[in-house]
Amino acid sequence: MENNNQQDKTPNPLRNDNPKKGFNFYWIYGIIAVAFIALNFFSTGEATENLIQKGQLIDMLRKGDVEKILLINKDEYAEVYIKPDKISSYPDLKPSSSPFKTAAPHFVYNGDLEKFGEFITTIQKEQNIPEESQIYLERENRVDYTSQILSWLLPLGLIVLFWIFIMRRMGGGGAGGGGQIFNIGKSKAQLFDGKLKVNITFDDVAGLDEAKVEIMEIVDFLKNPKKYTDLGGKIPKGALLVGPPGTGKTLIAKAVAGEAKVPFFSLSGSDFVEMFVGVGASRVRDLFKTAKEKAPCIIFIDEIDAIGRARGKNQVTGANDERENTLNQLLTEMDGFSNNQGVIILAATNRADILDRALMRAGRFDRQIHVELPDLTEREAIFKVHVKGLKTDTSINLNMLAKQTPGFSGADIANVCNEAALIAARKNSKEINKQDFMDAIDRIIGGLEKRSKIITMHEKSVIAYHEAGHASVSWLLEHANPLVKVTIVPRGRALGAAWYLPEERQITTFDQMFDEMTATMGGRAAEELIFGRVSTGALNDLEKVTKQAYAMIVYYGLDSKLGNISYYDSSGQQEYSFQRPYSDKTAELIDSEVHRLAEEAYLKAKTILSENMDKLRKLAEQLLNEEVIFNEDVEAIFGPRPFGKETGSDTAKEVSSNFREKRDKEKENAVNEHKKAEEAAEIKLSEENQSEAQNESKD
Ligand code: ATP
Repeated sequence: MENNNQQDKTPNPLRNDNPKKGFNFYWIYGIIAVAFIALNFFSTGEATENLIQKGQLIDMLRKGDVEKILLINKDEYAEVYIKPDKISSYPDLKPSSSPFKTAAPHFVYNGDLEKFGEFITTIQKEQNIPEESQIYLERENRVDYTSQILSWLLPLGLIVLFWIFIMRRMGGGGAGGGGQIFNIGKSKAQLFDGKLKVNITFDDVAGLDEAKVEIMEIVDFLKNPKKYTDLGGKIPKGALLVGPPGTGKTLIAKAVAGEAKVPFFSLSGSDFVEMFVGVGASRVRDLFKTAKEKAPCIIFIDEIDAIGRARGKNQVTGANDERENTLNQLLTEMDGFSNNQGVIILAATNRADILDRALMRAGRFDRQIHVELPDLTEREAIFKVHVKGLKTDTSINLNMLAKQTPGFSGADIANVCNEAALIAARKNSKEINKQDFMDAIDRIIGGLEKRSKIITMHEKSVIAYHEAGHASVSWLLEHANPLVKVTIVPRGRALGAAWYLPEERQITTFDQMFDEMTATMGGRAAEELIFGRVSTGALNDLEKVTKQAYAMIVYYGLDSKLGNISYYDSSGQQEYSFQRPYSDKTAELIDSEVHRLAEEAYLKAKTILSENMDKLRKLAEQLLNEEVIFNEDVEAIFGPRPFGKETGSDTAKEVSSNFREKRDKEKENAVNEHKKAEEAAEIKLSEENQSEAQNESKD
């Protein structure tokens, strides 16, 4: 099951949750933009300031205030300079805003500049200004270098920026060193050392004691290699964590990163994969090169099956060449000519069966650490870890919760705790109580309740008899799992369900498997006995039974006719083979045996039910009335389970009574709410009556 990380409150240190705050590239864009605006501002500032009209200019000339007039670039504009002693008579004159242009003209005229020289002379003559005091138009050609340079630089700069932008995009913007296009062959591993730390320790990993010991030993090899090499021993090269999804493989690796006090490189198998050929191999080389520089250190490759899958023998397309090259490079790096002293590789996978055998041999991954689904005590410990951060009340019994969750992985348990918190929050509770946990377990096992699903009365009774059939048959069979509760409230995709508490066992016998199949057939058998016809509602059951029968015969060698033969291929190579490993005749035999087994289970279920028809009806009726019934209800009808077999039954009873308690509380709440609503309605009615009576008396 994919990890549901809501519960994991620590930020994920194996991902770049907290990127380093380095130089931001966008600063460059900002600086260029500011520089551009500033230049523009300074260069054009004067031309728009102190602009004068023709009349004002005439006035100045008449008064003889003008020192000189400069006509710029033939007829672009004219700059008017005032005599220093006359400046005081122009109080509106704005001071120059440009620090570069201290000797700026005082006024600018950009009106009609045709025959401007003659115009100035005429005005002065009119005022009878002596010729020697008259001013004459001076001309000047100016080149505006700033705008010229800018008009060149700007498009060039834009092109460069665009190019850099495209380059960055092409690099994929990935984490680590692999982000840029020129770094594409560089490893994407994230390094945890003194600067970047993981705050997960072994205390956060519950259970998994053996795995912890093995892993800690590996860390110890790195820290004190002399202790081992002095005796002639060699330090292991790697350890492979194998186990079902969500059992804490990545978590234990995070804890190593947190505790090892040596540099820790973390990456995932898919980080090697890129669409370009040869990149994977080059990334492996780069990873080992960097790791050797940092030795002693640990490399952790999560989901190694992405690259470590067995190399094919009879592939047609060759599409996997790139992956195989990557794997070959990994094989050589792990045990080749190069010396990897001080680098230990940890890897995790939940598909060890499909890994290449060369990868698994001693000398590469010397150790395989199996991380299995947690047992009862481990589950309790995991609950303890995850409940730590929650506000729970005193009603929570972790042992009971652990008993209720057989087959749950660590990730599932983390999810239960989180769901419980969400459910409690939805109810606006201040604390999370036992009921919230029960609801969370219900929800995770069965999915969300869908009371609004439209089901006809007839359908409802078919479902009730179907579920009662399961419950009855399983109750009366020696090896069937103990029942917890039966419900006909639709949840998820199921219309109803019978919940059992599976025994936690390591090996299973033929009888146990057959009894389970019979109990699964109980639903359909009940439908046939009561209604005389079967429905599509048993699809799930039939699928389960068929698969189980097939596994019993083909894999476990539990069929007398086929004998002690297993066609199971633990190496996973069968994915590539187009042929069955058995003849057509054997295939026929397998088909007929699977068929026989399923039919026998069905017949047995039918026989058991037809001998207990009255009890079946009673159970179904109760189920129709109450929607959910529990272990003790079934016991009340059928009596204690026969065969004196009580394995797991006590726990099932305990769990069941917990669920019953929860249901009773829900009922009580519903009744209370109903009462409250009724009372409120009564009060409203009496108030209305009163006000009506008052109105009548007024009339
Ligand atoms: P996958 O194979 O799918 O990657 P995994 O085995 O690597 O799964 P993790 O990612 O390690 O699983 O575990 C998922 C989450 O489950 C963890 O973040 C943690 O919250 C919880 N968890 C799993 N096992 C344990 C454990 N032993 N103790 C405490 N929490 C656990």
